[in-house]
Amino acid sequence: MNGKHSINDDLLTPDEHVLSTLEADGSRRWLYPRLSLGKFWHARRIVGYALIALFVALPHLRIFGKPVVLLDITHREFTIFGYVFLPSDTLLLALLMLSVFLTIFLLTALLGRVWCGWGCPQTVYMEFVYRPIERFFLGTSGKGGVPSKKVPGYRRVVLYLVYFVLSMGLAHTFLAYFIGTERLSQWVTQSPFEHPGPFFVMALTTGLMMFDFAFFREQLCLIACPYGRFQSVLLDRNSLIVAYDTKRGEPRGKLHHELPVLDEKQGDCIDCHLCVRTCPTGIDIRDGLQMECIHCTQCADACDEIMTRIGKPTGLIRYSSQDAIETGKQKFLRARVFVYPTLILIVVSALIYNIANKKSFDATLIRGSGLPFSVNQQGLVEDQLKIKVVNRLETEDTLQLKIEPDSLELKIDGDTTMAAKASDTIPLVVIAKRSDFQFGKIGATITVTSQTTKDERSIRCQIFGP
Ligand code: SF4
Ligand code: SF4
Repeated sequence: MNGKHSINDDLLTPDEHVLSTLEADGSRRWLYPRLSLGKFWHARRIVGYALIALFVALPHLRIFGKPVVLLDITHREFTIFGYVFLPSDTLLLALLMLSVFLTIFLLTALLGRVWCGWGCPQTVYMEFVYRPIERFFLGTSGKGGVPSKKVPGYRRVVLYLVYFVLSMGLAHTFLAYFIGTERLSQWVTQSPFEHPGPFFVMALTTGLMMFDFAFFREQLCLIACPYGRFQSVLLDRNSLIVAYDTKRGEPRGKLHHELPVLDEKQGDCIDCHLCVRTCPTGIDIRDGLQMECIHCTQCADACDEIMTRIGKPTGLIRYSSQDAIETGKQKFLRARVFVYPTLILIVVSALIYNIANKKSFDATLIRGSGLPFSVNQQGLVEDQLKIKVVNRLETEDTLQLKIEPDSLELKIDGDTTMAAKASDTIPLVVIAKRSDFQFGKIGATITVTSQTTKDERSIRCQIFGP
């Protein structure tokens, strides 16, 4: 000891590497993956740019005069493929969510994390927009993608300016999904001093985009996104994964002398670490299936490049499955391949049936609080009820209410005209003669009719009496 005592001296060094993005002292290990230009990368780039075009276009597209996607949280309305889900559509929303989750389960069981590697906006924007720009401004040095050491300061400044402009564009696109393109264009054209709220939201979203793509990066997949953590339950041994062929690759060993001479007992892996240096999450695919693997196929491209150079068949790292790698047999048909589609079919059919039978308004009967009935001065029985109605139309609508049997009288204690897309509660009083009650009840039907669409809803209920 030389008198200076660092806190690091007290730390125990782990025997094995703990996290791909942590240095031994616990600080962040910055990842600068090497670019591997193989067949998968070229295909992913085409898919990636097509998806970016789709992500940008989607909030602008209309179907039946409505946005294809609008997740209007402030007004509690979700528009999906032109159909508006209102807060009262609990069943529809539950069915929609269930069908989305089941589809994710099915796709993951079949294709593994193909979404993470090929379709997720985080991967697509990071690998095909931000990372190429970074490489352009900072260059690369050595065998990995580490930025060049001799980058003039102004290039870094310009890089962050470009990041900022891009993040602002991304923030606008992202918010368009939640506020719609009409409101977005208002926000863009308004002065920030007159409308500080929208300006603040936009500035905050831009800041978050910048933070994510310039700083947080792979940490979003590793720490924040829950999907990777569900991988162990969603995948099975026959799901498609990016896998290292251990049987072919091991025992790994350095390439001796000139290419392509390999030791006879040696596997095909020449331990060049290119698959690790190219990995955007910093892992070694040769350690097996890992939560951090986003199945981006960069390691497969890197290894194919090496195999070609040493005259070996490509595909040492490839799309395969755990069982196929270990036993050589790929089993496609298994229980979840039948169970998930069957459940999806049932849930989606229920969703479509319920949407097809939706009326232009929703009506729910609620019993008034307090006593179930009272007797008025004329000796008639009065039941207090309420009817909660939601007008789904884009225009004002008036509702008509009637009750059966005719011996009952319905008194409406409020206005039945409703503003467009408004919800309201209409108080009702049902009046009945004492003699009409049998065992203290009368079976009744309240029918609500829209004057605009003539849609009709019948609600069965019990009128209570002495
Ligand atoms: S790139 Fe291929 S050969 Fe090189 S270490 Fe990875 S698996 Fe082995
Ligand atoms: S291990 Fe391979 S497929 Fe998985 S994230 Fe790393 S480079 Fe992508």
